Amino acid sequence: MSTLVRFENTERVYQLGERHVQALYPLNLTIDNDEFVMILGPSGSGKTTMMNMLAGMDSPTAGHLYVGNEEVSAMSREQLVEYRRQNVGVVFQFFNLIPNLTALENIQFVVELTGSSGDAHKALEAVGLAKRQHHFPHELSGGEQQRVAIARALVKEPPILLGDEPTGNLDVATGQRVLKIFQDIHKEGRCVIIVTHNRAITAAATRVITLGDGKIRSDEKNPNPLPAEEVIW
Ligand code: ADP
Ligand code: MG
Repeated sequence: MSTLVRFENTERVYQLGERHVQALYPLNLTIDNDEFVMILGPSGSGKTTMMNMLAGMDSPTAGHLYVGNEEVSAMSREQLVEYRRQNVGVVFQFFNLIPNLTALENIQFVVELTGSSGDAHKALEAVGLAKRQHHFPHELSGGEQQRVAIARALVKEPPILLGDEPTGNLDVATGQRVLKIFQDIHKEGRCVIIVTHNRAITAAATRVITLGDGKIRSDEKNPNPLPAEEVIW
């Protein structure tokens, strides 16, 4: 076990004309490489702001963010492009697959783009979709599309798998399957960080961090995560 993520007085302020929106107050937090963290909070609490900084899609306005041995908050735009390409796998609420590429091609596209040595077939197998590889997104259910999106995020073997409300658009049975895949990925040794407004699903994680108005309100370890199939919402 070692520290993978470190927020150090990390702050994010948006300036909207005269208005000053403090999306995140100075945040201090470390996450280890063997954790499955859920960041819970109501709409507007700062979850996506945190996620976007981890994903290298946004930068703090003060403080630091370290991932592995690198300071993401000190990277130039060019370095952030490379960081996103190599280090970050993100799963979003609305799958964001390319509609005119098959499941397999959606994943191969990322392999080509990143020059990763990942295997698109294996990634699809890992999410139980080998048989659907030649289907287009519109021929897949919502849950299957999300599993393709997970395979696409995983194929570059990122140190952290990120999810922004990845079950937010799924019914319970489908959401459980997707949650189980995140649990399995964590059990295989990858750090998983998910943000959600759904308190029920946090039972599946090993640690729950609650955000409110841009501040950490609680931070609790869960020694006995519930198997995804038993999580009901
Ligand atoms: P959550 O994902 O928990 O709903 P966000 O991180 O999206 O919260 O937003 C946190 C706060 O920052 C909210 O008050 C939101 O209105 C504000 N905010 C987010 N993005 C922007 C932006 N681009 N410009 C101005 N304010 C923003
Ligand atoms: Mg959000």
